[in-house]
Amino acid sequence: MRAEQLGFDVAFDRFDRQKPQCGFGLAGVCCKICNMGPCRVTEKAPRGVCGADADLIVARNLLRATAAGTAQHGARARETILALKWAAQGKLDLPILGAQKVLATEKAFGIEAEGRALNVVVDLADALLDDQSRAERF
Ligand code: SF4
Repeated sequence: MRAEQLGFDVAFDRFDRQKPQCGFGLAGVCCKICNMGPCRVTEKAPRGVCGADADLIVARNLLRATAAGTAQHGARARETILALKWAAQGKLDLPILGAQKVLATEKAFGIEAEGRALNVVVDLADALLDDQSRAERF
């Protein structure tokens, strides 16, 4: 393997060095949300210090992981939209590629593009930023 030749380790190597994996973590019944933990659910101790049972701990871990992932993608999307806007305004020296996609998105947002050149891209970026930070969907 090329990484091995170069002296790098990869995720598979690190995974192997982590064995055996923690059974509580694998089952999702380890909670370290607050400083009273970490709590691990067992038959002897079926609830964490706060009273959370296995179902609540698993559901909470899943939701928190989902929220964190969504926030990360949202932050990356915001950076991309700002780059699009600044490129259209000439503040950033980047070419705007994928004209068909930009036009299709403008149409989906109801933005009139005919004869407006790059101003319409700024409108699109503003619409996307507005959409991304809207607290309510409807
Ligand atoms: S189970 Fe409750 S007490 Fe234990 S770490 Fe999680 S939130 Fe804190």
